Amino acid sequence: MAGAEIAARRAFVVGDPIDHSRSPDLHNAAFAAVGLPHTYGRIRANESEIGAVIETMRSERWLGLSVTMPNKAAVIEHLDRLTPQAERLGAVNCVFWDGDVLCGDNTDGAGLVWAIRDHLGVDVATRIGVLGAGGAARAAILALAEAGATHITVVNRTRDRAVAAAALAGDIGSVGEPEDLSDCDIVINATPQGMGDTGVVSLPPYVPGFGQLAYDLVYHPPLTPWMEAAGSLGGRPANGLSMLIGQAAVQFTRWTGVDAPTDAMIAAVG
Ligand code: NAP
Repeated sequence: MAGAEIAARRAFVVGDPIDHSRSPDLHNAAFAAVGLPHTYGRIRANESEIGAVIETMRSERWLGLSVTMPNKAAVIEHLDRLTPQAERLGAVNCVFWDGDVLCGDNTDGAGLVWAIRDHLGVDVATRIGVLGAGGAARAAILALAEAGATHITVVNRTRDRAVAAAALAGDIGSVGEPEDLSDCDIVINATPQGMGDTGVVSLPPYVPGFGQLAYDLVYHPPLTPWMEAAGSLGGRPANGLSMLIGQAAVQFTRWTGVDAPTDAMIAAVG
């Protein structure tokens, strides 16, 4: 197709720490796969520095910005507008341009829905249990409710946070105990329990069994102790790498208007 050559632009992920981030692998593979000349790098910056990063994004007209810990809430005051999802969650993981307006979105929940429904082929219009009530759990609950979940039960160590998280699902959300999750088709671990390199392994309080999808947001190690325990009970374990890919894919499309090449992204981090 004849046409003007696309100018190379820059995108980044900003957080602290940031050296471990897999996002550059995902996005650079995606740009290459669709033939776009853009580049994606890392910026180490914390809450006191995020305002200056956004100012540079404006003046240099970067393509986009991924935002990670500890900046997901702190970035908000520096943006012009939020999507409804980012507004309700009070957290932004993606900054994009709408004309000359700099907008904040939260793509974690959409990434999880993509992972479970589109990548794993599991229907999300069903009963779902969520272990945890932090930022990732909240994004998951909001997106799964919007995607048609019939009921979402939230189990969390701190009850007040569970109540606030369950409210994101409206009438289909409730707070429960671990034993309430036995009739869920999908159980999501959104706590860091079982994460690698911590030296201590404490399993989340409910382990899915036969007929249940055990989706662990943790993906390091790839087979977490919770996934292993679920597998031994006949559950179907999956780790959170597909959510990482899904949230990046939504960001990629926000920035470029191009469908994300998810196969290339999976190959880049698989
Ligand atoms: P967060 O906001 O700090 O929330 C952590 C949640 O886990 C809270 O509900 C907390 O309970 C609970 N929790 C923490 N330690 C616990 C323990 N020892 N026992 C029981 N409950 C415990 O963290 P987050 O940002 O939501 O992240 C949660 C996990 O998801 C992390 O492992 C993160 O790496 C992962 N994640 C993965 C992806 C992905 O793309 N795959 C994306 C985002 C996050 P309290 O409310 O009682 O404190």
